[in-house]
Amino acid sequence: NSIFNFCAGPAMLPREVMQQAQQEFLDWQGLGCSVMEVSHRSPEYIAMAKEAEQDLRELLSISDDYAVLFMHAGGRGQFFSIPMNLMPQGGVADHVVTGSWSRGAVKECQKYGQAKVVTDITYQGNNRGIAPQSEWQLSDNAAYLHYCPNETVEGVEFDYVPQVDAPLVADMSSCILSRQINVNDFGLIYAGAQKNIGPSGLAIVIVRKDLLGKARSDTPSIFDYQQQFKLDSMLNTPPTYAWYLAGLVFKWLKAQGGVAAVEEKNIAKAKLLYDFIDECDFYENRVVKHYRSRMNVPFYLADEALNDKFLQESKQAGLLALKGHRMVGGMRASIYNAMPIEGVKALTQFMADFAKKNG
Ligand code: PLP
Repeated sequence: NSIFNFCAGPAMLPREVMQQAQQEFLDWQGLGCSVMEVSHRSPEYIAMAKEAEQDLRELLSISDDYAVLFMHAGGRGQFFSIPMNLMPQGGVADHVVTGSWSRGAVKECQKYGQAKVVTDITYQGNNRGIAPQSEWQLSDNAAYLHYCPNETVEGVEFDYVPQVDAPLVADMSSCILSRQINVNDFGLIYAGAQKNIGPSGLAIVIVRKDLLGKARSDTPSIFDYQQQFKLDSMLNTPPTYAWYLAGLVFKWLKAQGGVAAVEEKNIAKAKLLYDFIDECDFYENRVVKHYRSRMNVPFYLADEALNDKFLQESKQAGLLALKGHRMVGGMRASIYNAMPIEGVKALTQFMADFAKKNG
């Protein structure tokens, strides 16, 4: 009777985390009220907030050279915060476009300076991928290079970290904590929380400290990295419940054995699903093999007239939210950290049965 939720975001969170949150909902730390009802300036809240940051630092081995910020306005909030904080007036920022989200970042950046698209892989039918770095038209004077290691909509994921002179800025909204990274490779990493971290609205920003203090004078204070860093991300009231829940997810990840252990599980889950799709003529994935996302698996039915039936019956079978993004159509199974392998097994079993009955 299990329900497995394949939503791309807000996405399924670990059941253990949700159960703990439920238990403490009305009485957090014996205070007789919810964490949602506690001042962010209280010693209890500040201790929890610091511990969450510390746990994230441990999970990703983040050194003291980096600030960790808990910001407002989700992933998209960073699309403008980054140019406002890192790009001088009239400056240029290089952008690698590999799908919808990296394209979205370009549009927003253009409001603040020159967003130079150094490569643009638009939707390429059966052959979605990433142009080799040797073909990128890099600027000499870019304030940074922005890219999206995992494109949530197209299911395209980098299997390497670009090597460029400019500080590397990565939108890790849909892949943070899913695989091991070396934070030192990046100038700035950011992620909207609602996939691998917690509730939407919160964004985590990990920024090298030498990049702080360069914000344009018209940057709103709550989006100014330097000001937020100085005030422990509490310049105003932070998204307190989201921060608390993120803290529970970080503890859960540590209990799982950390990012390395979770990455192994993610590799196994993705392999199970892609192998099944590749072996069954009834389904198709259209991404070049080594750029296939471990987190978001788009797939198409051979007969697209069966899409509605597939969605209806999968929902009845407890497999939720498999509809692909409207921009690319088809289906999409998002299999973030919280998705157990049992969920992927249930999905492939359903897909096999559906193919048999309708093929
Ligand atoms: N970047 C990526 C890669 C995403 O997948 C998303 C949302 O799905 C966003 C940015 C935007 O995040 P938000 O909705 O929190 O603004």
